[in-house]
Amino acid sequence: MAPTPGISSSTLPPFFAYQDGQLMVEGVSLSTLAQQHGTPLFVYSRAAMLSALAAYQRGLAGRDHQICYAMKANSTLAILQTLVQAGCGLDIVSGGELERALAAGIDPAKVIFSGVGKTRREMRRALEVGIGCFNVESRAELDVLDEVAQGMGLRAPVSVRVNPNVDAKTHPYISTGLKDNKFGIAHEDVVATYRHAAACGGLRVVGIDCHIGSQITEADPYLDAMDRILDLVETIEAAGVPIAHIDFGGGLGIDYRGDTPPAADTLWQRLLQKLDARGFGDRKILIEPGRSLVGNAGVCLTEVIYLKPGEHKNFLIVDAAMNDLPRPAMYQAFHQIVPLSQRPGETTTWDVVGPVCESGDWLGRDRALNVQAGDWLAVLSAGAYCMSMASNYNTRGRAAELLVDGDAATLIRARETAEDQFRLETLLPTL
Ligand SMILES: *Cc1c(COP(=O)(O)O)cnc(C)c1O
Repeated sequence: MAPTPGISSSTLPPFFAYQDGQLMVEGVSLSTLAQQHGTPLFVYSRAAMLSALAAYQRGLAGRDHQICYAMKANSTLAILQTLVQAGCGLDIVSGGELERALAAGIDPAKVIFSGVGKTRREMRRALEVGIGCFNVESRAELDVLDEVAQGMGLRAPVSVRVNPNVDAKTHPYISTGLKDNKFGIAHEDVVATYRHAAACGGLRVVGIDCHIGSQITEADPYLDAMDRILDLVETIEAAGVPIAHIDFGGGLGIDYRGDTPPAADTLWQRLLQKLDARGFGDRKILIEPGRSLVGNAGVCLTEVIYLKPGEHKNFLIVDAAMNDLPRPAMYQAFHQIVPLSQRPGETTTWDVVGPVCESGDWLGRDRALNVQAGDWLAVLSAGAYCMSMASNYNTRGRAAELLVDGDAATLIRARETAEDQFRLETLLPTL
Protein backbone atom coordinates (compact mmCIF):
# COMPACT_ATOMS: atom_id res chain seq x y z
CA MET A 1 0.00 0.00 0.00
CA ALA A 2 1.42 3.41 -0.97
CA PRO A 3 1.20 5.88 1.90
CA THR A 4 -0.31 9.28 1.09
CA PRO A 5 2.49 11.44 -0.39
CA GLY A 6 4.02 13.91 2.01
CA ILE A 7 2.71 12.08 5.04
CA SER A 8 5.01 9.53 6.55
CA SER A 9 4.70 8.24 10.06
CA SER A 10 7.79 10.21 11.00
CA THR A 11 5.87 13.49 10.62
CA LEU A 12 3.06 12.38 12.92
CA PRO A 13 3.16 13.75 16.47
CA PRO A 14 4.54 11.43 19.17
CA PHE A 15 2.08 8.71 20.31
CA PHE A 16 0.26 8.78 16.92
CA ALA A 17 1.28 6.21 14.29
CA TYR A 18 -0.10 4.09 11.44
CA GLN A 19 -0.37 0.38 12.11
CA ASP A 20 -1.43 -1.74 9.11
CA GLY A 21 -2.75 1.41 7.42
CA GLN A 22 -4.83 2.43 10.46
CA LEU A 23 -4.06 5.58 12.43
CA MET A 24 -3.57 4.73 16.10
CA VAL A 25 -3.20 6.83 19.23
CA GLU A 26 -1.28 4.95 21.88
CA GLY A 27 -2.91 1.49 21.69
CA VAL A 28 -6.27 2.58 20.26
CA SER A 29 -7.51 2.71 16.66
CA LEU A 30 -8.97 6.14 15.90
CA SER A 31 -11.43 4.62 13.39
CA THR A 32 -12.90 2.55 16.22
CA LEU A 33 -13.37 5.69 18.30
CA ALA A 34 -14.99 7.57 15.40
CA GLN A 35 -17.30 4.60 14.85
CA GLN A 36 -18.30 4.42 18.53
CA HIS A 37 -18.63 8.12 19.33
CA GLY A 38 -19.37 9.83 16.02
CA THR A 39 -17.67 12.92 14.62
CA PRO A 40 -16.49 15.65 14.99
CA LEU A 41 -14.57 14.17 17.89
CA PHE A 42 -11.52 15.38 19.79
CA VAL A 43 -9.18 12.65 21.01
CA TYR A 44 -6.26 13.33 23.35
CA SER A 45 -3.33 11.16 24.40
CA ARG A 46 -2.61 11.24 28.11
CA ALA A 47 0.93 9.96 27.51
CA ALA A 48 1.60 12.76 25.02
CA MET A 49 0.57 15.42 27.55
CA LEU A 50 2.59 13.88 30.35
CA SER A 51 5.64 13.46 28.16
CA ALA A 52 5.44 17.13 27.09
CA LEU A 53 5.20 18.10 30.76
CA ALA A 54 8.10 15.79 31.65
CA ALA A 55 10.39 17.71 29.27
CA TYR A 56 9.80 20.90 31.30
CA GLN A 57 10.14 18.98 34.58
CA ARG A 58 13.50 17.59 33.44
CA GLY A 59 14.66 21.03 32.32
CA LEU A 60 13.79 22.58 35.70
CA ALA A 61 14.73 19.62 37.93
CA GLY A 62 16.60 20.59 41.08
CA ARG A 63 15.29 24.18 40.98
CA ASP A 64 12.65 25.85 43.07
CA HIS A 65 9.98 26.11 40.38
CA GLN A 66 6.28 25.96 39.55
CA ILE A 67 4.94 25.04 36.10
CA CYS A 68 1.59 26.79 35.70
CA TYR A 69 -0.28 25.33 32.71
CA ALA A 70 -1.94 28.20 30.81
CA MET A 71 -5.37 26.60 30.81
CA LYS A 72 -6.91 28.75 28.09
CA ALA A 73 -5.11 26.42 25.64
CA ASN A 74 -7.49 23.62 26.64
CA SER A 75 -9.58 23.96 29.77
CA THR A 76 -11.55 20.69 29.72
CA LEU A 77 -11.76 19.45 33.30
CA ALA A 78 -10.15 16.04 32.77
CA ILE A 79 -7.24 17.67 30.91
CA LEU A 80 -6.69 20.04 33.85
CA GLN A 81 -7.02 17.15 36.28
CA THR A 82 -4.39 15.13 34.38
CA LEU A 83 -1.85 17.95 34.48
CA VAL A 84 -2.68 19.00 38.04
CA GLN A 85 -2.22 15.43 39.29
CA ALA A 86 1.18 15.42 37.57
CA GLY A 87 2.20 18.47 39.62
CA CYS A 88 1.15 21.44 37.49
CA GLY A 89 -0.17 24.71 38.80
CA LEU A 90 -2.52 26.68 36.56
CA ASP A 91 -2.38 30.08 34.88
CA ILE A 92 -5.90 31.48 34.56
CA VAL A 93 -7.26 34.51 32.69
CA SER A 94 -10.83 34.75 33.97
CA GLY A 95 -13.18 34.03 36.85
CA GLY A 96 -14.66 31.21 34.78
CA GLU A 97 -11.24 29.58 34.47
CA LEU A 98 -10.81 29.92 38.24
CA GLU A 99 -14.01 27.92 38.82
CA ARG A 100 -12.87 25.26 36.34
CA ALA A 101 -9.47 25.09 38.04
CA LEU A 102 -11.14 24.57 41.42
CA ALA A 103 -13.51 21.97 39.96
CA ALA A 104 -10.47 20.09 38.62
CA GLY A 105 -9.03 19.90 42.14
CA ILE A 106 -6.24 22.51 42.04
CA ASP A 107 -4.62 23.77 45.24
CA PRO A 108 -5.52 27.51 44.90
CA ALA A 109 -2.02 28.49 46.05
CA LYS A 110 -0.79 27.04 42.72
CA VAL A 111 -3.03 29.34 40.67
CA ILE A 112 -1.73 32.52 39.08
CA PHE A 113 -4.12 35.01 37.50
CA SER A 114 -3.07 36.72 34.24
CA GLY A 115 -4.97 39.01 31.87
CA VAL A 116 -5.43 42.74 31.22
CA GLY A 117 -9.05 43.13 32.34
CA LYS A 118 -9.67 41.50 35.71
CA THR A 119 -12.88 42.78 37.28
CA ARG A 120 -13.42 43.55 40.97
CA ARG A 121 -15.68 40.52 41.25
CA GLU A 122 -13.00 38.23 39.78
CA MET A 123 -10.37 39.71 42.11
CA ARG A 124 -12.61 39.21 45.15
CA ARG A 125 -13.27 35.58 44.33
CA ALA A 126 -9.57 34.88 43.67
CA LEU A 127 -8.62 36.51 47.00
CA GLU A 128 -11.34 34.60 48.82
CA VAL A 129 -10.00 31.22 47.64
CA GLY A 130 -6.39 32.29 48.16
CA ILE A 131 -4.65 32.14 44.78
CA GLY A 132 -0.86 32.28 44.61
CA CYS A 133 -0.34 35.43 42.55
CA PHE A 134 -2.02 38.12 40.48
CA ASN A 135 -0.04 39.03 37.35
CA VAL A 136 -0.98 42.69 37.13
CA GLU A 137 -0.90 44.42 33.75
CA SER A 138 -1.52 48.13 34.45
CA ARG A 139 -1.25 50.81 37.10
CA ALA A 140 -5.04 51.14 37.15
CA GLU A 141 -5.44 47.41 37.83
CA LEU A 142 -2.89 47.61 40.65
CA ASP A 143 -4.91 50.35 42.35
CA VAL A 144 -8.21 48.48 42.02
CA LEU A 145 -6.65 45.28 43.37
CA ASP A 146 -5.20 47.24 46.30
CA GLU A 147 -8.64 48.66 47.08
CA VAL A 148 -10.41 45.28 46.78
CA ALA A 149 -7.84 43.51 48.96
CA GLN A 150 -7.90 46.23 51.60
CA GLY A 151 -11.69 46.03 51.67
CA MET A 152 -11.32 42.33 52.54
CA GLY A 153 -8.57 42.98 55.08
CA LEU A 154 -6.06 41.10 52.92
CA ARG A 155 -2.85 41.70 51.04
CA ALA A 156 -2.98 40.48 47.45
CA PRO A 157 0.17 38.71 46.23
CA VAL A 158 1.25 40.53 43.04
CA SER A 159 3.67 40.30 40.21
CA VAL A 160 3.88 42.98 37.54
CA ARG A 161 3.75 41.78 33.97
CA VAL A 162 6.40 43.69 32.13
CA ASN A 163 6.63 44.13 28.44
CA PRO A 164 10.26 43.32 27.61
CA ASN A 165 9.90 44.72 24.07
CA VAL A 166 11.42 41.73 22.32
CA ASP A 167 10.27 40.36 18.99
CA ALA A 168 9.08 36.78 19.40
CA LYS A 169 9.16 36.46 15.56
CA THR A 170 5.74 34.90 15.41
CA HIS A 171 2.31 35.79 13.95
CA PRO A 172 1.36 39.42 14.85
CA TYR A 173 -1.87 38.24 16.54
CA ILE A 174 0.02 35.97 18.89
CA SER A 175 3.03 38.22 19.55
CA THR A 176 2.60 39.94 22.89
CA GLY A 177 6.02 41.23 23.96
CA LEU A 178 6.39 44.26 21.67
CA LYS A 179 6.05 47.88 22.74
CA ASP A 180 2.79 48.72 20.95
CA ASN A 181 0.97 45.75 22.38
CA LYS A 182 -1.90 45.95 24.90
CA PHE A 183 -0.13 43.53 27.28
CA GLY A 184 2.15 44.34 30.19
CA ILE A 185 3.74 47.45 31.58
CA ALA A 186 6.26 49.31 29.42
CA HIS A 187 9.90 48.79 30.35
CA GLU A 188 10.46 52.44 31.32
CA ASP A 189 7.51 52.47 33.77
CA VAL A 190 8.32 49.22 35.57
CA VAL A 191 10.44 50.51 38.45
CA ALA A 192 7.98 53.29 39.34
CA THR A 193 5.16 50.73 39.24
CA TYR A 194 7.01 48.46 41.68
CA ARG A 195 7.75 51.39 44.03
CA HIS A 196 4.06 52.23 43.96
CA ALA A 197 2.95 48.61 44.51
CA ALA A 198 5.32 48.21 47.47
CA ALA A 199 3.71 51.24 49.11
CA CYS A 200 0.13 49.91 48.77
CA GLY A 201 -1.29 48.47 52.00
CA GLY A 202 -3.40 45.90 50.15
CA LEU A 203 -0.58 44.46 48.05
CA ARG A 204 2.39 42.19 48.67
CA VAL A 205 4.99 42.13 45.88
CA VAL A 206 6.08 38.55 45.20
CA GLY A 207 7.38 38.43 41.66
CA ILE A 208 7.83 39.72 38.15
CA ASP A 209 6.50 38.19 34.96
CA CYS A 210 6.49 38.42 31.20
CA HIS A 211 4.97 36.52 28.30
CA ILE A 212 6.35 37.45 24.92
CA GLY A 213 4.10 35.59 22.49
CA SER A 214 2.98 32.21 21.27
CA GLN A 215 4.18 29.52 18.86
CA ILE A 216 7.76 30.71 19.37
CA THR A 217 10.15 28.36 17.56
CA GLU A 218 13.53 29.88 18.47
CA ALA A 219 15.48 30.16 21.71
CA ASP A 220 16.79 33.69 21.11
CA PRO A 221 13.62 35.64 22.02
CA TYR A 222 13.57 33.81 25.39
CA LEU A 223 17.26 34.51 26.03
CA ASP A 224 16.75 38.20 25.13
CA ALA A 225 13.66 38.48 27.33
CA MET A 226 15.50 36.86 30.24
CA ASP A 227 18.32 39.40 29.98
CA ARG A 228 15.85 42.27 30.00
CA ILE A 229 13.87 40.88 32.91
CA LEU A 230 17.01 40.30 34.95
CA ASP A 231 18.16 43.89 34.22
CA LEU A 232 14.81 45.02 35.59
CA VAL A 233 15.03 42.79 38.67
CA GLU A 234 18.42 44.36 39.47
CA THR A 235 16.96 47.87 39.21
CA ILE A 236 13.79 47.04 41.15
CA GLU A 237 15.72 45.42 43.97
CA ALA A 238 18.18 48.34 44.03
CA ALA A 239 15.09 50.50 44.59
CA GLY A 240 14.35 48.42 47.69
CA VAL A 241 11.66 46.01 46.44
CA PRO A 242 12.66 42.31 46.70
CA ILE A 243 11.49 39.96 43.94
CA ALA A 244 10.99 36.37 45.11
CA HIS A 245 9.93 34.69 41.88
CA ILE A 246 10.56 35.29 38.20
CA ASP A 247 7.89 34.12 35.77
CA PHE A 248 9.05 33.72 32.17
CA GLY A 249 5.58 33.08 30.71
CA GLY A 250 4.73 30.50 28.08
CA GLY A 251 4.78 30.62 24.31
CA LEU A 252 7.00 27.71 23.27
CA GLY A 253 5.84 26.49 19.86
CA ILE A 254 4.99 23.01 18.60
CA ASP A 255 5.53 21.26 15.28
CA TYR A 256 2.50 21.94 13.07
CA ARG A 257 4.30 21.75 9.72
CA GLY A 258 7.95 20.90 10.05
CA ASP A 259 8.41 23.62 12.70
CA THR A 260 11.47 22.95 14.83
CA PRO A 261 11.03 24.62 18.22
CA PRO A 262 13.72 23.85 20.78
CA ALA A 263 12.82 21.00 23.15
CA ALA A 264 11.63 22.33 26.51
CA ASP A 265 14.43 20.63 28.44
CA THR A 266 17.25 21.92 26.21
CA LEU A 267 15.72 25.40 26.10
CA TRP A 268 15.64 25.46 29.90
CA GLN A 269 19.19 24.17 30.18
CA ARG A 270 20.29 27.23 28.18
CA LEU A 271 18.07 29.63 30.11
CA LEU A 272 19.25 28.31 33.47
CA GLN A 273 22.88 28.74 32.37
CA LYS A 274 22.15 32.40 31.79
CA LEU A 275 20.23 32.72 35.04
CA ASP A 276 23.17 31.21 36.97
CA ALA A 277 25.75 33.27 35.09
CA ARG A 278 23.91 36.43 36.06
CA GLY A 279 23.65 35.41 39.70
CA PHE A 280 19.92 34.70 39.87
CA GLY A 281 20.13 30.92 40.13
CA ASP A 282 18.51 30.91 43.57
CA ARG A 283 15.23 32.51 42.50
CA LYS A 284 11.97 30.62 42.25
CA ILE A 285 11.12 30.15 38.58
CA LEU A 286 7.56 30.15 37.26
CA ILE A 287 6.57 29.31 33.71
CA GLU A 288 3.19 29.37 31.95
CA PRO A 289 3.26 26.89 29.04
CA GLY A 290 -0.02 26.26 27.25
CA ARG A 291 0.20 25.03 23.67
CA SER A 292 3.43 23.08 24.18
CA LEU A 293 1.80 20.86 26.83
CA VAL A 294 -1.37 19.90 24.96
CA GLY A 295 -1.16 21.01 21.29
CA ASN A 296 0.39 17.88 19.82
CA ALA A 297 -1.48 15.59 22.20
CA GLY A 298 -4.87 16.05 20.49
CA VAL A 299 -6.52 15.40 17.13
CA CYS A 300 -9.95 16.24 15.78
CA LEU A 301 -11.65 13.43 13.87
CA THR A 302 -14.04 14.37 11.10
CA GLU A 303 -16.07 12.55 8.44
CA VAL A 304 -16.03 13.42 4.76
CA ILE A 305 -19.62 14.34 3.88
CA TYR A 306 -19.34 15.30 0.20
CA LEU A 307 -16.77 15.50 -2.55
CA LYS A 308 -17.29 18.63 -4.64
CA PRO A 309 -14.79 18.67 -7.49
CA GLY A 310 -14.67 21.89 -9.55
CA GLU A 311 -12.96 23.46 -12.52
CA HIS A 312 -10.35 25.35 -10.46
CA LYS A 313 -10.78 23.97 -6.97
CA ASN A 314 -11.84 20.68 -5.49
CA PHE A 315 -13.65 20.87 -2.18
CA LEU A 316 -13.83 18.17 0.42
CA ILE A 317 -16.75 19.00 2.68
CA VAL A 318 -16.30 17.55 6.13
CA ASP A 319 -18.43 17.57 9.31
CA ALA A 320 -15.95 19.60 11.41
CA ALA A 321 -15.88 23.35 10.88
CA MET A 322 -14.49 26.68 12.01
CA ASN A 323 -16.67 26.52 15.12
CA ASP A 324 -14.77 23.37 16.17
CA LEU A 325 -11.34 24.33 14.82
CA PRO A 326 -11.12 28.13 14.66
CA ARG A 327 -7.34 28.45 14.14
CA PRO A 328 -7.24 28.28 10.31
CA ALA A 329 -10.02 30.90 9.96
CA MET A 330 -8.55 33.09 12.71
CA TYR A 331 -4.81 32.96 12.06
CA GLN A 332 -4.55 31.18 8.66
CA ALA A 333 -3.03 28.45 10.80
CA PHE A 334 -1.86 25.17 9.26
CA HIS A 335 -2.92 21.77 10.62
CA GLN A 336 -1.92 18.51 8.97
CA ILE A 337 -4.91 16.49 7.80
CA VAL A 338 -4.50 12.74 7.36
CA PRO A 339 -6.80 9.76 6.72
CA LEU A 340 -7.67 7.42 9.59
CA SER A 341 -7.52 4.55 7.16
CA GLN A 342 -4.95 4.74 4.35
CA ARG A 343 -6.24 3.91 0.84
CA PRO A 344 -3.93 2.72 -1.91
CA GLY A 345 -3.94 4.71 -5.15
CA GLU A 346 -3.78 8.21 -6.55
CA THR A 347 -4.36 11.34 -4.51
CA THR A 348 -6.27 14.46 -5.57
CA THR A 349 -5.69 18.00 -4.35
CA TRP A 350 -8.50 19.20 -2.13
CA ASP A 351 -9.47 22.20 -0.03
CA VAL A 352 -10.89 20.73 3.17
CA VAL A 353 -13.84 22.88 4.26
CA GLY A 354 -16.60 22.76 6.85
CA PRO A 355 -20.37 23.23 6.48
CA VAL A 356 -20.53 26.69 8.11
CA CYS A 357 -21.87 29.53 5.98
CA GLU A 358 -18.62 31.54 5.78
CA SER A 359 -15.90 31.51 3.12
CA GLY A 360 -13.44 31.57 6.02
CA ASP A 361 -14.67 28.14 7.06
CA TRP A 362 -11.76 26.03 5.86
CA LEU A 363 -9.53 23.59 7.69
CA GLY A 364 -6.82 23.03 5.11
CA ARG A 365 -5.98 24.16 1.57
CA ASP A 366 -4.47 22.18 -1.30
CA ARG A 367 -4.18 18.86 0.51
CA ALA A 368 -3.25 15.71 -1.37
CA LEU A 369 -5.69 13.06 -0.22
CA ASN A 370 -7.23 9.91 -1.61
CA VAL A 371 -10.68 9.82 -0.02
CA GLN A 372 -14.30 8.97 -0.59
CA ALA A 373 -17.47 10.24 1.09
CA GLY A 374 -17.85 8.53 4.46
CA ASP A 375 -14.10 8.32 5.11
CA TRP A 376 -12.69 9.73 8.33
CA LEU A 377 -9.86 12.23 8.55
CA ALA A 378 -7.80 13.44 11.51
CA VAL A 379 -6.87 17.09 11.88
CA LEU A 380 -3.57 16.84 13.74
CA SER A 381 -2.08 19.01 16.50
CA ALA A 382 -5.56 20.07 17.58
CA GLY A 383 -5.07 19.81 21.34
CA ALA A 384 -4.54 23.53 21.95
CA TYR A 385 -6.73 26.52 21.12
CA CYS A 386 -9.32 24.38 19.34
CA MET A 387 -11.92 23.05 21.79
CA SER A 388 -11.27 25.97 24.14
CA MET A 389 -12.06 28.39 21.30
CA ALA A 390 -14.99 26.36 19.90
CA SER A 391 -18.31 28.16 19.48
CA ASN A 392 -21.91 27.32 18.66
CA TYR A 393 -21.97 29.34 15.45
CA ASN A 394 -24.64 27.97 13.09
CA THR A 395 -26.13 26.27 16.20
CA ARG A 396 -23.57 23.54 15.89
CA GLY A 397 -23.12 21.63 19.12
CA ARG A 398 -19.59 21.40 20.41
CA ALA A 399 -17.80 18.13 19.72
CA ALA A 400 -17.33 15.28 22.18
CA GLU A 401 -13.90 14.69 23.72
CA LEU A 402 -12.08 11.48 24.64
CA LEU A 403 -8.93 10.91 26.64
CA VAL A 404 -6.89 7.86 25.67
CA ASP A 405 -4.60 6.15 28.16
CA GLY A 406 -2.88 3.07 26.76
CA ASP A 407 -5.64 0.80 25.40
CA ALA A 408 -8.51 2.64 27.10
CA ALA A 409 -10.52 5.67 25.97
CA THR A 410 -12.66 7.71 28.40
CA LEU A 411 -15.38 10.11 27.35
CA ILE A 412 -14.43 13.38 29.08
CA ARG A 413 -17.05 15.60 27.45
CA ALA A 414 -20.31 14.46 25.90
CA ARG A 415 -21.40 15.85 22.56
CA GLU A 416 -23.45 19.03 23.02
CA THR A 417 -27.07 18.75 21.90
CA ALA A 418 -29.29 21.47 20.43
CA GLU A 419 -31.25 21.52 23.72
CA ASP A 420 -28.00 22.11 25.63
CA GLN A 421 -27.44 25.13 23.44
CA PHE A 422 -30.76 26.86 24.04
CA ARG A 423 -31.29 25.74 27.61
CA LEU A 424 -30.69 29.24 29.01
CA GLU A 425 -32.97 30.99 26.49
CA THR A 426 -36.65 31.90 26.93
CA LEU A 427 -39.42 32.40 24.42
CA LEU A 428 -41.57 35.51 24.80
CA PRO A 429 -44.94 34.90 26.45
CA THR A 430 -47.62 34.20 23.84
CA LEU A 431 -50.60 36.58 23.86
C1 LIG B 1 -1.81 32.42 26.43
C2 LIG B 1 -0.86 32.69 27.52
C3 LIG B 1 0.11 31.76 27.87
C4 LIG B 1 0.30 30.46 27.14
O1 LIG B 1 0.78 30.65 25.85
P1 LIG B 1 1.17 29.38 24.95
O2 LIG B 1 1.65 29.98 23.68
O3 LIG B 1 -0.05 28.57 24.77
O4 LIG B 1 2.25 28.65 25.67
C5 LIG B 1 0.93 32.03 28.95
N1 LIG B 1 0.81 33.19 29.65
C6 LIG B 1 -0.10 34.12 29.32
C7 LIG B 1 -0.18 35.36 30.12
C8 LIG B 1 -0.96 33.91 28.25
O5 LIG B 1 -1.86 34.84 27.94
